[in-house]
Amino acid sequence: MVSPRRDFDCLVIGGGHAGVEAAWAAASALGPDGRVALITMDPSRIGAMSCNPAIGGLAKGQMVREIDALGGLMGRAADASGILFKVLNASKGPAVRGPRAQCDKYAYMEEIQRLINTRAPGSSAEAGAGTIAVLTGVVDDLLVEAGVVVGVVLGGARMGEVLRAGAVVLTTGTFMRALMHTGTERCIGGRVGEASAIGISAALRRLGFELGRLKTGTPPRLARESIDWDVLPRQLGDSPPTPFSELTDEGGRFPALPQVECRLTQTTAAAHELIRANLDRAPMYSGQIDAECGPRYCPSIEDKVVRFADRDSHHVFLEPESLRTNEIYCNGISTSLPCDVQVALVRSMPGCSRARIQRWGYAVEYDMVWPSEIDSTCAAKRLSGLFLAGQINGTSGYEEAAGQGLVAGLNAARFVRRAAPVRLGRDQAYIGVMLDDLVTRTPREPYRMFTSRAEHRLLLRSDNSAERLTPLAREWGLVDGTRWANWQRQAEAVNALRGEFSVETADGRARRDLALRPEATLEVIAARCAVEAPIAASAHWRRCLERVVTELRYEGYLRRAQAEVRRSAELETATIPEWLEPSTITGLRREAIDALRRYCPRTIGQAGRLAGVHPADVAVISIAVRRQRAARGSAAKAPTDVA
Ligand SMILES: Cc1cc2nc3c(=O)[nH]c(=O)nc-3n(C[C@H](O)[C@H](O)[C@H](O)COP(=O)(O)OP(=O)(O)OC[C@H]3O[C@@H](n4cnc5c(N)ncnc54)[C@H](O)[C@@H]3O)c2cc1C
Repeated sequence: MVSPRRDFDCLVIGGGHAGVEAAWAAASALGPDGRVALITMDPSRIGAMSCNPAIGGLAKGQMVREIDALGGLMGRAADASGILFKVLNASKGPAVRGPRAQCDKYAYMEEIQRLINTRAPGSSAEAGAGTIAVLTGVVDDLLVEAGVVVGVVLGGARMGEVLRAGAVVLTTGTFMRALMHTGTERCIGGRVGEASAIGISAALRRLGFELGRLKTGTPPRLARESIDWDVLPRQLGDSPPTPFSELTDEGGRFPALPQVECRLTQTTAAAHELIRANLDRAPMYSGQIDAECGPRYCPSIEDKVVRFADRDSHHVFLEPESLRTNEIYCNGISTSLPCDVQVALVRSMPGCSRARIQRWGYAVEYDMVWPSEIDSTCAAKRLSGLFLAGQINGTSGYEEAAGQGLVAGLNAARFVRRAAPVRLGRDQAYIGVMLDDLVTRTPREPYRMFTSRAEHRLLLRSDNSAERLTPLAREWGLVDGTRWANWQRQAEAVNALRGEFSVETADGRARRDLALRPEATLEVIAARCAVEAPIAASAHWRRCLERVVTELRYEGYLRRAQAEVRRSAELETATIPEWLEPSTITGLRREAIDALRRYCPRTIGQAGRLAGVHPADVAVISIAVRRQRAARGSAAKAPTDVA
C-alpha cells in the first residue's frame, strides 16, 4: 500500500534549465496549496549556463517563445540578461526566423534564481501558485512502493534521508556518473568546479531503465584584454532588439542591460594540421572517452577537422560572457584537446596571437536514459509517478531541456492531482515535435531542435506562439491573470490589425496591396497603419503586425498546411489500446512487432513514425485495433477509431 504521508507534492531533482521550468510549471499547475521542492547539488548554480551563454537561435528561439507562451521562465530571464539580441534568418521566410540573445551568464542565473525565490514558502508574491522550496542535496535513489515512485533517498552529507512526494521529476543533465576530460587529464564532475551524481545512475539501472552514455564539450574562454579586437569584423545585434517574453515591459526597461558586439575570427590551415597531428591525445579519438556519441550538430573542432577534411578554416565568434567579467567565449572551437594544443589553436586565429586562455576547453561524458523509456508527456513508462526531462533524455541544449522540463513539471502536477496527462502535438509546438521525435525515433546522438524537424513549421512560427499556446496554458493552470489579460489585449490588437487590411474599404485594400508586396518592409507597412507612433514602435505591436502580414502573404500555404494537419489528425487521434499485444496482430512483420513492444506508441500516427514500421504495417495495425476492439465488445465505446 502506498503511504499517504508526503513532504511535498512534487520533487524536482536538478536546478538546470529543465529543473527550474519543471518546478515553476508544477507550482503553477498545483495552485495555491501546492508544495514543490527543487533539490540540487549546489543552489548557487541554479539556472547556470554550462556552455555558450546564448538563448534561442534557429528553431530554439521558437521554443523559447513557446515556453514563454506556456508561462515559463526562460524568455523572461533572457530578456532581463540579454546583451545582444538578433533575429536569425530575418531576411528569410517567417517559418525559419529564430530570435536569439547573447546573455550575461551571471545576470541570467540571478534572474532565474530571483524568479524561483518569488515562490519560496512564506513569500506572498505569487498568490495563485504553489510554493517552491529550494533544498541542497544529492539524490542517490528513488523510493518505490507498489510500483509507484513516492519519493527520493538523499546521499552525501544527508545520507539516507528520505523525502516523500506525490511525483518526482528527474533532470540530472550532464551530471550522472560525469567525467570531464582535457587531453589525457580526467576528473570527476559534471561541470568545472561541480561534483558528479553517482548513486542515481545505479538506482535507475537497478530499476530496469536502459541507460546510455553521451558526451558534450565546451571551448576555451579568453581574457578580453588579450585580444586585438580592432582587426576583427564586428557582429552587431538588432536595433531595436526584440524581446522573447510577452511579459517584458518596454519603454526604457528593455533591453535591461547595455548592449555589446561580438567579433568574428577563424581557425587556420596550420591549426588544422596541428590538430590532426595530435588526434592521439584527443580523448574522443584516443578511446579515453567511453561515450557512444557526441553532438553531431555542435561538433568539437577536432570532429570538424576530421569530418570536414577538405575545409581549411572554420568561423569562430568571440562573444562576451558577461558585462562584469573579462571572459570571452570562443563559439566554434569546443575542444578537449590538451592544453598546449589549445594554446596553439587559439593563437593561430586572427586577432588572437597574444590571447590568454582563462579556462580550458573540456569534454564531459555522462549517463543518460534512452528516451524510449518515456512517453510524450515525459512520464517514465516503467514506473508511475516518475517524470524525466532535459539532457537526461539524450537531448542537448538549454531550450530543449527547458521545454521538456515544463511538460514534465506540468504532468507531474497533474499526476498528483489525478488529472489526465497532457501533451503537445507536432502541429501545435516545436516542444511537441521534440517529444514525439524522442519517443518514436530514439536518437543515438544528442538531440537538438531544427526547423527541418517540424513538418508543420509554417504553423509553428515565433510570431504566433502565444496565439497557439497561451489559451492551452490557461486551461492547464500555467498562466496567471496578468499574462492572460496581456494575451487578451494582444488578441484584440491582432483583430484590429486584421481590420486594417480588410478588402471592404479602399484604405484596407491599399494597405493589403502594399503588404502583399514582398519588398515592403514591416516599417513601411506600419507607417500606413492607423496607429499612434508609440504603439507602432513597441515590439508587441510589431509582432502582431508581423503575424497579420504573414497571414496575408502566406494565406495559400497556411491553408494547405492546415489541411495537411486535418488529414493527419485522424491517425494522430486514433489510439492504440494498452492491452493490444503486438504479437497477436496477424500479418505484422517481426521488425514492426519489436518496435511496437519497445516504444508502446499511443496512437496509430505515432506508430507510423517508429523506425521499423512501414506504411503497410500501419494499415495492418489499424485493422487489428478495430477488430480486437470489436472482439472485446468495446468498439462502440472507443473515443476514436480508424476507419
Ligand atoms: C561542458 C558542457 C558543454 C555544453 N555545450 C553545449 C553546447 O555547446 N550547446 C548546447 O546547446 N548545450 C551544451 N551543453 C548542454 C547544456 O548545458 C545542457 O543541454 C543543459 O544545461 C541541460 O539542462 P538540464 O536542465 O537538463 O541539465 P543541467 O543544466 O546540466 O542541470 C542539471 C542539474 O541537476 C543537478 N543534479 C544532477 N544530478 C543530481 C542529483 N542526483 N541530485 C541533486 N541534483 C542533481 C545539477 O546540480 C544541476 O543543477 C553543454 C553542457 C556542458 C556541461
